[in-house]
Amino acid sequence: MNKVPVTAKLLAPVAIKRDRQSERSESVRSVAGTLVRGALASLYLQRHGQADDDFNRLFLNEASCRFGPLDPGPKHFPLTAVSCKRERIEHAMVDQLWFCIAQHHRAGYVAENTTAWRQCRECEADLKGHDGFWKQGDDRPCDMSSNHQVAAHVGIDRQTATAAESILYTLEFMSPSCKKVDLYGWLMADADALAALEQLLQDESNCISVGHHRTRGYGDVCLTLGEPVGRDDSQSNTENWKQWSHDLIAFLGSPPLSVPDLDPKDFYFSLSLPTGAVFVDRFLRYTIDPAAMIPWLPAMPSVDVAFPLKDRPSHQLSAGGTVRWITAVTRHERLRGWNAAHGLPRQDEWVLARGAVYVYCFQGTAEEREALIAQLATLSKDGVGLRRNEGFGTVTVSDDFHCRFRQQEV
Ligand SMILES: [Zn+2]
Repeated sequence: MNKVPVTAKLLAPVAIKRDRQSERSESVRSVAGTLVRGALASLYLQRHGQADDDFNRLFLNEASCRFGPLDPGPKHFPLTAVSCKRERIEHAMVDQLWFCIAQHHRAGYVAENTTAWRQCRECEADLKGHDGFWKQGDDRPCDMSSNHQVAAHVGIDRQTATAAESILYTLEFMSPSCKKVDLYGWLMADADALAALEQLLQDESNCISVGHHRTRGYGDVCLTLGEPVGRDDSQSNTENWKQWSHDLIAFLGSPPLSVPDLDPKDFYFSLSLPTGAVFVDRFLRYTIDPAAMIPWLPAMPSVDVAFPLKDRPSHQLSAGGTVRWITAVTRHERLRGWNAAHGLPRQDEWVLARGAVYVYCFQGTAEEREALIAQLATLSKDGVGLRRNEGFGTVTVSDDFHCRFRQQEV
């Protein structure tokens, strides 16, 4: 499968409620891959009348086609990103992952001079978690927030089909802007699936319909497929991962963190899940531990056996060497959906929040490390977890963001 960048222009306001129940529910910030896939599947069935081979290839086989979410910016901030409480990234943008790794090494105790990771250098306000989307700016990330507005609507009386007395409600929606592109996304497709999808979009003038209130004119989105991107250069990727680990060890060992007893031969890597993921254990219970889905990773220990770090249980790899869990910044979110085929709500699921990140440390010989790196390359290519054809479970190994924003710029 090749990755195809997708851009979207809103032709009408798009309202997608975060919560199924509430009438005052706020709107989500992006269009989930589930909705993109559902909208296209519904168009396909309207046009062709039944599910044929192309339908299965496009919407049911996750080895031939996957739909990513449509977001206001090309990249999602990791859960470890923080910014100034008052002036946001205008003042400060820091990533706390490497600092968090130092805290685990020193069992919660770190040197005193660590206000750089807690306070804004400009105004001394606290640093707070920074959620949302970004794109590469000139020297700092450029914050991309969608253009949200609120509309008041009159309820319609079912008996008379006219305006209902005293019934007003508000609706938050993404509003079309004057920008060339409102939303950025991607899809993965093999050659046959891509050809079928291009044909479908051409037949429908590239227009799909998503979200609530479509009978009131909401939800029209125009999709544009970009040129397929070839496979990533895995050679340069693996070199970047090694450099990431090398830089991290140098960072931990130097002041003010000064973590003692670091071995320069260790290989640290992080697994980030920028689109979230659905993990279940072997009893199909939802979990936030990647070890439930990736058999060669060690399970996250409970807090009482987690410290000191060197006594943490490690997992022996079949190719040699051991992997130890270091830290994780993660959380659960509830995923809701609507099953259009049944006309019923989908079963709610617990998913990993977008931007979750896990860190592991590998100890072994250089040869054993190469075997691990090959497994990491497979993981970043295939993704992990359930519902991958709806964009869940994409994996970024050793994201450069953590290295680049490891401390506040002076
Ligand atoms: Zn500030």
